[in-house]
Amino acid sequence: MARYTGPVCKLCRREGEKLFLKGSRCLSSKCAIERKGYAPGEHGQGRRRRLSDYGIQLREKQKLRRIYGILEKQFRNYFKKADAMTGVTGTNLLQLLESRLDNTVHRLGFGSSRAAARMLVKHRHIMVNGKTVDIPSFLVSPGDRIQVREKSKKMEAIHDSMQKIKGEHPLPWLELDKAKMEGTFLQVPEREEIGLDVNEQLVVELYSK
Ligand code: SF4
Repeated sequence: MARYTGPVCKLCRREGEKLFLKGSRCLSSKCAIERKGYAPGEHGQGRRRRLSDYGIQLREKQKLRRIYGILEKQFRNYFKKADAMTGVTGTNLLQLLESRLDNTVHRLGFGSSRAAARMLVKHRHIMVNGKTVDIPSFLVSPGDRIQVREKSKKMEAIHDSMQKIKGEHPLPWLELDKAKMEGTFLQVPEREEIGLDVNEQLVVELYSK
C-alpha cells in the first residue's frame, strides 16, 4: 500500500499543531512547530484565513489521516467500513485505525512513531500469534499477541524506543511484557481511552455530504 513520502514536519506545520510523527524529535527543541510555528510556503507567515465549515471539516480529516499515516483512498475505505458497522461511525473509525498492526506496534512502544512501527512490520520484524505479518494495515483482534521476532530482539531502534515506556501497561487495552518484547491486544479501545485531540464527528460530516 502506498504511503506519503514527502517532508513530515510540514504536515504538522500545515495543521498548526504537533501530530507527533517523528518519535523523540517531536519532544525536543528540534521540533519544527517549536522553531517555525507557522504554515509552510510563501504565505505561511501571513494571517491564517478564516475557514468555512467545509474547510474546518477538511482540516480535521487531514489531521486524522496524517496522524495515522494513511493516504486518502485507504482512509475513505476505513470510513465506509466504519459507516457500515453498528454504533457511532466516528468512534468506529478511530477504533479501526487503532486496531491497525503498525499503530499497535507503536502503541506497545516497539516503534518510536507510527512510521517507525510501519517499517518494523514491513521489514518482517513483527509476529502476530507466532506468525510473521508484514502488512502494516493488518487489523489485530482482541486476544492477539504481537511479538518482536527472536532475531530482531537486539535491534537498537526497538530498544531505544522501549526505554521510553514507563510502567508495565502503556495503555488500558494493551498488555506488555517488556522482557519478552511482546504484548497482547486485550480489547478494542473505548473512545475516551484513545485520547486523541481530534473531532472525528467533523470527518463523518465531511464524508456524509
Ligand atoms: Fe511534527 Fe514531530 Fe516534526 Fe514536531 S518534530 S513538526 S511534532 S513531526
